[in-house]
Amino acid sequence: TPTDPRSDAPASAALLERATRVIPGGVNSPVRAFRAVGGTPRFIASATGPWLTDVDGRRYVDLLCSWGPMILGHAHPDVLEAVRTASARGFSFGTPSENEVLLAEEIVARIEPVEQVRLVSSGTEATMSAIRLARGVTGRSVIVKFAGCYHGHVDALLAAAGSGLATLALPDSAGVPVEMTADTIVVPYNDVPALEEVFAARGSEIAAVITEAAAGNMGVVPPAPGFTEAVRRVTREHGALLVSDEVMTGFRCSKAGWFGLEGPYAAGAPDIFTFGKVMGGGFPAAAFGASAEIMAHLAPLGPVYQAGTLSGNPVATAAGLATLRGCTDDLYPRLEVTARTIADAASAALAAEGVAHTVQWAGSMFSVFFREAKVTNYDEARDQDTAAYGRFFHSMLESGVHLPPSAFEAWFVSGSHDEEAVGQVVEALPAAARAAAHA
Ligand code: PMP
Repeated sequence: TPTDPRSDAPASAALLERATRVIPGGVNSPVRAFRAVGGTPRFIASATGPWLTDVDGRRYVDLLCSWGPMILGHAHPDVLEAVRTASARGFSFGTPSENEVLLAEEIVARIEPVEQVRLVSSGTEATMSAIRLARGVTGRSVIVKFAGCYHGHVDALLAAAGSGLATLALPDSAGVPVEMTADTIVVPYNDVPALEEVFAARGSEIAAVITEAAAGNMGVVPPAPGFTEAVRRVTREHGALLVSDEVMTGFRCSKAGWFGLEGPYAAGAPDIFTFGKVMGGGFPAAAFGASAEIMAHLAPLGPVYQAGTLSGNPVATAAGLATLRGCTDDLYPRLEVTARTIADAASAALAAEGVAHTVQWAGSMFSVFFREAKVTNYDEARDQDTAAYGRFFHSMLESGVHLPPSAFEAWFVSGSHDEEAVGQVVEALPAAARAAAHA
């Protein structure tokens, strides 16, 4: 293996050098910078099906899938056709248009408790708006979130701080005044007693609990059996809303997202859902939704203001609609078979080299944690051999497989991952496991 990981990616390295002059860190979203694994991020020139081609002309099996959206694979013919047709009719009108209605109908048809949605352009906007809506509906201020759950870069939600029991949230980012997280309480994930303690102390002030339907942003950590159920029960007892963030899991874990696998809970369904990623098909489209009664609090009907110049963009909604229509019943079992094949091969390769690891699942989303024991919360997720992951990642990249460039992320597959692509992954794994084993 080359000592300088840039040596086989000269065109990417050259672009990165130019990029760092005009873009902070050379990237428009931090994790793309490979800070966690080192080396040169590959600048991708084109993508089709399960394949990424970088600017040096090297081809990679894509297990990133744009961090979730590309569930049908890249440039899927049906989605491409929908985008071509929509874009030929104009790019943005700033008026209502038909695709918005069709996409909203498609979402509402899939998630039973969601009667209405408002379309936005990013997952961050969806959770930000969901929080505002919850506060507006309840007239309360406090938001409870779980450590290790990421809900976009919303000021009030950029707090994951604190191990131990429930902590008052401190901002994770400079530029977020402490007042912005003063009404945020962070509780360990999968910890019902800690949540009950918070509600016992401050229940009447809490507008909502927001949770990733199944956590994917500390690596994949599904809710323990009964956890979401308990969150639903406790919030209901205290008149707080439950916001289920399905930006990552929505239309990915099943046709109806994580809710389709686990919900509704005996104590009821979540009140507000957020969606993104898959529902935009690779374009900027996201949504938040709830019952018609809750959604009636939004402008122009109600007093909670929320808006967007490009919300419901005709091209983005066309891509999203074509993608959701492509998410047929037979897709999900296929994704799971593909994911299992890859995960089993990874596990076998790591076991053969004696590398401590554990694989965790939410539908076809999975993560390989580089530690022996299962992960149930953020503290445990952080307690893994990230250096071993870095070596593993780079060996895979050398062999033409693009994994997420951090140990704290889900691996994603698409309906286009065929025998050739899966075979290339399986072949690459033994060498990567060897690299992981030897510092
Ligand atoms: N919520 C969850 C669960 C997410 O995974 C993400 C993005 N990874 C977001 C919100 C934010 O979405 P976006 O990056 O589109 O703003």
